[in-house]
Amino acid sequence: MLESPIVQPLRDTPLVTSISQLREIFGAISDGQASMMQQVADRYTFRIPRFYLTHVLTNDPADPLWELALPGAAELGDPGTERWDAFQLPEKAVEHPRWVQKYRYEALLRITDYCSGLCRYCYLKNRDVTPGCISHHEIDDMFTQAEASPHRHRLRELIFSGGDPLAAPAAVIEHLADRVQRLNKMVQRRITVSIHTREPVWNPDSVIERGHLLPALAKLAPSSYVLHVVHPREVTPELLQAMHALVTNAVERPPLMMCQHPLFKGISDDAAIITEMYDRLDSGPVVMKPYYLIHPFPDGTLPQHRLTLLESQQILRKLASAPGTRVPLLTVPTPMGKCVIGPWEELVDRGGHYLLHTKDGVPVKYSTGSVYDPAESRQNIPIMPSISRGSAG
Ligand code: SF4
Repeated sequence: MLESPIVQPLRDTPLVTSISQLREIFGAISDGQASMMQQVADRYTFRIPRFYLTHVLTNDPADPLWELALPGAAELGDPGTERWDAFQLPEKAVEHPRWVQKYRYEALLRITDYCSGLCRYCYLKNRDVTPGCISHHEIDDMFTQAEASPHRHRLRELIFSGGDPLAAPAAVIEHLADRVQRLNKMVQRRITVSIHTREPVWNPDSVIERGHLLPALAKLAPSSYVLHVVHPREVTPELLQAMHALVTNAVERPPLMMCQHPLFKGISDDAAIITEMYDRLDSGPVVMKPYYLIHPFPDGTLPQHRLTLLESQQILRKLASAPGTRVPLLTVPTPMGKCVIGPWEELVDRGGHYLLHTKDGVPVKYSTGSVYDPAESRQNIPIMPSISRGSAG
């Protein structure tokens, strides 16, 4: 048997990783701003692909996308309390830090902690992440457990997430493909794979030109890609080409291409901006289905970008009169799982909170405000006392 290679995340992309490099490209950064950025970068990693700087951002400190992609002073006030992976089902199919399972039918695999760019709102910045890229040994460990688990027959989908799975080495994707195929021979219904990625936005050439990545993805044969795009300006011709490459790469069934995007006050909290983004994503050769419209995460989201649930619902209302295939699901991330809110659902203030339900019925009290409330940390989030998990079979 071959030894598992030590795999490293992709590191050879043309990245900008220092404030001095950044200033060479963006001369509009003042000395004072550079000093603040350096202070933030000393605390949180700074990394961004050159492509994104030169094709998406502008050399203008008033560019609202700077707040999402470049170090900003607001990050210094981030409480750093995010612990979204802590709540999981007791009957997980697999016990492993990279296997996150909140629902019986779906598990999320943290393939790597690496993305070519590091979003300034990302919870990965300061949480307890499983470091590095998944090894062959870890893949074998997880899938061998899954094959032996009595709960494997309930699984319908594996979400490959991260970090960014498309920044992982092709050998990792290939090995995952082998083990997914093997697991699928041992279950009654096929378990599909969905890849959540932002790599084609950050660095589209890396998706198309990296040797062995596309063949490995063809072998994996994901059923869908869920692209993380936040603004119409991110929809470059190169992104549309990368989407096309991913879809036409399939040997048999072309994958579904969908997008998901968090809402950010002052940047993307406008139905017209969102519709323009959907139109641009759909202007190329690939059909794009809007999937999740994500209410701002209580953690990670910078204070100036937070919205109340009512504000997010108002945005959905303006999007809801489009054809059904163009209407996203408004999703509220909570430690218990995702809650989906309808455009005209009545949100009743029950004393500072709404009563929401996760996809599989777990009641969650959710703040009516937009400001992060430390009481909503993992340990203290108020759930209904009699029910600690979903009851769907
Ligand atoms: S692409 Fe996703 S995982 Fe990567 S830094 Fe951005 S939000 Fe985090």
